[in-house]
Amino acid sequence: MSELERKRDRAPVPAAWEYAPAPEARDLVQLRERYGLFVGSEWLEPAENYTTIDPSSEEPLAEVGQATREEVDQAVGAAREAFDGGWSAISPAERAKYLFRIARILQERSREFAVLESLNGGKPIRESRDVDLPLSAAHFFYYAGWADKLEYAFPNRKPRPIGVAGQIVPWNFPLLMLSWKIAPALAAGNTVVLKPAETTPLSALLFADVLRQAELPPGVVNIVTGDGRTGAALVEHPDVDKIAFTGSTEVGKSIQRELAGTKKHLTLELGGKAANVIFDDAALDQAVEGIVNGIYFNQGHVCCAGSRLLVQESIYEPLVGKLKRRLATLRVGDPLDKNTDVGAINSRQQLDKITELVASGEEEGAEIYQPPCRLPEKGYWFVPTVFTNVAQSYRIAQEEIFGPVLSVLTFRTPDEAVEKANNTPYGLSAGVWTEKGSRILAMAQKLRAGVIWANTYNRFDPASPFGGYKESGFGREGGRHGLEPYLEFE
Ligand code: NDP
Repeated sequence: MSELERKRDRAPVPAAWEYAPAPEARDLVQLRERYGLFVGSEWLEPAENYTTIDPSSEEPLAEVGQATREEVDQAVGAAREAFDGGWSAISPAERAKYLFRIARILQERSREFAVLESLNGGKPIRESRDVDLPLSAAHFFYYAGWADKLEYAFPNRKPRPIGVAGQIVPWNFPLLMLSWKIAPALAAGNTVVLKPAETTPLSALLFADVLRQAELPPGVVNIVTGDGRTGAALVEHPDVDKIAFTGSTEVGKSIQRELAGTKKHLTLELGGKAANVIFDDAALDQAVEGIVNGIYFNQGHVCCAGSRLLVQESIYEPLVGKLKRRLATLRVGDPLDKNTDVGAINSRQQLDKITELVASGEEEGAEIYQPPCRLPEKGYWFVPTVFTNVAQSYRIAQEEIFGPVLSVLTFRTPDEAVEKANNTPYGLSAGVWTEKGSRILAMAQKLRAGVIWANTYNRFDPASPFGGYKESGFGREGGRHGLEPYLEFE
């Protein structure tokens, strides 16, 4: 035996690389058995309840209220009283003080919130800890800074708050969407009634505790839980002055129809089917990371997800090869494990929708790739999936799947890339990967999307406006633009 062989024999190289479990402490969160509706800073006992669960185990977590029309009316009444009773008139610097307090408390309690967000929503703790929570706090800090500078934000126009804002948020980023909505509304001097999604009410209910800790005056923020009927009651309420909605295009359209001809203000942040465009001069390894982040982040439950990959034909083989190898390294499982990359699907209903669309992709003739992967027995799970051989007409290239499923298409020239990227009813986001700055600028001018990332994907910042074109909705959230929908001008 040679010296080298002897050394190799002794080398402590394990036969398999496995990650030991690294669970975050579940007991950071103390759940109550039952939650009421948060109205006028008090817990109102709801007439009806339902059970909210952990989608990774299907275990019940708590009972929450299913707010009725009358209870929504009470919440709107509390918001109106708070608006007329002083909130809209207190000094802007005083409003800022509350927002700064909320931001700091969110930072202080961020581990607790991160665990709760993963428990109730199914997202990996790494994401709730490193993305949802820091960004939520950042939104409150950012808009706290604007509260006493509104006249500078809109020079030569006299801004004033609109009144009571009804805000409806989805289940994919429960606390972050709450922050995107509540922070600018309060900075502008409005009061709020917020409805979280049916499947993810708990972080909003814990946020009520933050509001009390910050000593926000009663009625400035009210939280009513429940399903779509609660949302509809809020939309229809005659004393609500503005509706801000994030969710599906279908419900967004029905809200728009409902509000047509009324004096209510409306902003809609709806679905997307974003193109992530990879040119042949892009750094392939970085692009693969961007593609993975673009579609598998938060199990693909992201309105701006890069769900259509457009690859220049000359690099198709090496890129798809690298992507498939990378996919095999993603760890799917317990959302509370710090090593998990892809967590649980948010609900049975969403899992059924993903399963149905994936089956349609196979039936229509696309080629499916799923890495070998052992899924937990209980809970809702879906293996990260790539479809190649996809035609533009397939449903998986047209419809929002809202799951960890990527459709790969190819192009030859930049013009063809633009045409294919824009061939969708949506227009929320897009990604461009190339070494050439001039090409990035040329593409950004031609792509019909509200947000365009270059050589990165899914980056968010409170200072940067976010929103769509076409069926992705209208109005902007974030940045100075995000204040405007909460203001009227004299
Ligand atoms: P919805 O649009 O139904 O839900 C968004 C929010 O609106 C929830 O709080 C929901 O309550 C509420 N809502 C439902 N119906 C009404 C109504 N008639 N009036 C007022 N509010 C209402 O989305 P889903 O949860 O049903 O998801 C369906 C599909 O929508 C997903 O598969 C995905 O494709 C897309 N979607 C897109 C999102 C985005 O950010 N672009 C976010 C979420 C979903 P409740 O939770 O009780 O239904």
